[in-house]
Amino acid sequence: MEYLSMLPGPTNVPNRVMRAMLAPIINHRSDDFVELYTDVVDKTQQVFETKNDIVALSASGTGAVEAGVVNLVKKGDKVIIPVNGEFSNRLSQLIEGQGANVVKLETPPGQNATFDQVKEAFDNNKDVKAFYVVHNETSTGTMVNYLDRISDLTSRNDAFYVVDSVSLLGGAPLPVDKWGVDVCMTGAQKAIAAPPGISPISVSPRAKKYMQENPPNTMYFNLARYFKYYDEEKHTPFTPALPLLYAYREALAILLEEGLQNVFTRHKVCSDALYSGLSAMGLSPFAKEEDRSISIVALNYLDGLEDKIFRNTLANKFKVLVAGGFGNLKGKVFRVGCMGEVSPYHVMRTISAISSTLAMMGYEVDAQAGLKTAEEKLKSL
Ligand code: PLP
Repeated sequence: MEYLSMLPGPTNVPNRVMRAMLAPIINHRSDDFVELYTDVVDKTQQVFETKNDIVALSASGTGAVEAGVVNLVKKGDKVIIPVNGEFSNRLSQLIEGQGANVVKLETPPGQNATFDQVKEAFDNNKDVKAFYVVHNETSTGTMVNYLDRISDLTSRNDAFYVVDSVSLLGGAPLPVDKWGVDVCMTGAQKAIAAPPGISPISVSPRAKKYMQENPPNTMYFNLARYFKYYDEEKHTPFTPALPLLYAYREALAILLEEGLQNVFTRHKVCSDALYSGLSAMGLSPFAKEEDRSISIVALNYLDGLEDKIFRNTLANKFKVLVAGGFGNLKGKVFRVGCMGEVSPYHVMRTISAISSTLAMMGYEVDAQAGLKTAEEKLKSL
């Protein structure tokens, strides 16, 4: 029996996407490549809801995140960034590594900075060059709900607006043009449900101009090189991971066939069902209610529940994979991915497997309450 991956990425990849990787290797300086890559760019633009330039990097999500930093942030620049977990912390370290003056809005894990706190930071730092934000903090299961209002602040200060949406884009609305996002990064292996290894990034015309005029001192992540090759020949400057591009294109096609709005609804309903079903069994979500992610359901461990034993039992006996906590949260929370192919089947099988695992470990849980509550939520799909 195959494992059901309910990890916060990589997620399950449909067979149609896996099969796409069997296409022959082509010359990446040929018309065939132009056909492939322009289609990848076009479909990525549709999912990002943007007309901005797209670069589909052959790299994991960190590659896109690094490119989004080293191409924009220079020594001495002032950058505002909310920090409340592992990935926002990594992002702020990257920015600090550029020699920037970082204004960190730190909040406890599981809780986002409020919009008013962000606004206050803009009011107090008129010379800000860029605002960076992690859309969905994968380590704690929080999601920022006011990204549609940030460009009012960045445009006032003429600052760049940059979003790391590695663990959410494709699963929840992030209309890049409507929300005025200058640079947006994601990873193919999360809500888009492709294999890991392709990381798309969108760049607005003004950010592109800045990058072309101020190229970074790097080779692989110098985005101006990618713009030049694409604008002149519709090529990439370096050898792309062709099978991964085939798979990524197929995953985008599946997403677009279902329709963005339907995909967003499916993610939202499935995460509601997971939160409420697992809560009905006595588990409590880690994140504050208003900040909860719809693609990562993080739950507190019940008293005395051993992380390794719980996850091993879940995996070995019930073939369901979930992730543990990061850093200080190791042993305190576990995280259920709710993205990509996620469906009522995934939700019900996961709740049932978790309840059986808990029962096997001697905890009294009301499995029926969990399943019934989730079932009710899933009716709307
Ligand atoms: N940013 C966020 C929000 C993430 O969740 C992740 C990975 O989970 C990354 C960046 C890094 O992505 P990768 O592990 O693909 O390099």
